[in-house]
Amino acid sequence: MVVIELATGWIVEHDEERLFMCGIYTYVGKNSAEKEVFTGLKRLLYRGYDSWGVAGFIIDKIRLVKQTGVLSQIDKLKDLKKATMAIGHTRWATHGKVTQKNAHPHLSEDGSLALVHNGIVENFSELKQTLLNQGVRFRSETDTEIILKLVEQQLKQTTDWLTVLKRVYQKIAGRNTIAVLTSRGEIWAVRDGSPLVVGLAKDEVILSSDVVSLPKRIKRMIFVDNRQVVKISTQAEPALYRLDSSKRIKPKFEKLNRVDSLITRGGYEH
Ligand code: GLU
Repeated sequence: MVVIELATGWIVEHDEERLFMCGIYTYVGKNSAEKEVFTGLKRLLYRGYDSWGVAGFIIDKIRLVKQTGVLSQIDKLKDLKKATMAIGHTRWATHGKVTQKNAHPHLSEDGSLALVHNGIVENFSELKQTLLNQGVRFRSETDTEIILKLVEQQLKQTTDWLTVLKRVYQKIAGRNTIAVLTSRGEIWAVRDGSPLVVGLAKDEVILSSDVVSLPKRIKRMIFVDNRQVVKISTQAEPALYRLDSSKRIKPKFEKLNRVDSLITRGGYEH
């Protein structure tokens, strides 16, 4: 058990493994989704990043903005105004140069999916070669796009997302956490490796790489465990499943206690 005292004043007790590499942040709720994601990503910047991107769901379409460099101007997201749900990512490149094309989210061929990823697909070369032999075309140099292409392939065989995700994870090696926004207005995420937490407030559901990024109004949260799937489709509580058995799991809610008095200077003036 670790007790984490966060700079924002939150105290969290959990036996959580903390890996620091780039960030995932998604928002479904009553506020402006793209703005919430932008602010959330800013709070994840301590994890390091070289590029960033946000995909927003507007009526039945996904719109995408991605950039290399600094995450500083929210006006870059003006095309995502009125998004009711959004997913965002700060990238720390492992496969492929730091370019706009390689930045996440990655869009599926037909534009109906936007995927973000933390981690490394260890059998990247082998899977890419197989997909290339099958005539699959890639838009980026990333290992992330392999996951997306495998999801697209599986969706042609079944519309059951739990089956799709299970099959994809049977093919990829390594530790890989992903979140996918669909043009049907759903977010599907899998934690395997890099952490994921769900923060809940009235009519708001946030998925993030770190509890530190959750806004102060969030009072309840769930630590997503390894090889668990999260489905968010409305502002109500998300559904949790086991990746390997597709079994639904009852979420374990944890209370976030904000304790301002614990932020002290330890007797020092600065
Ligand atoms: N391996 C992926 C890439 O290079 C994800 C890196 C990350 O976790 O940001 O795009």
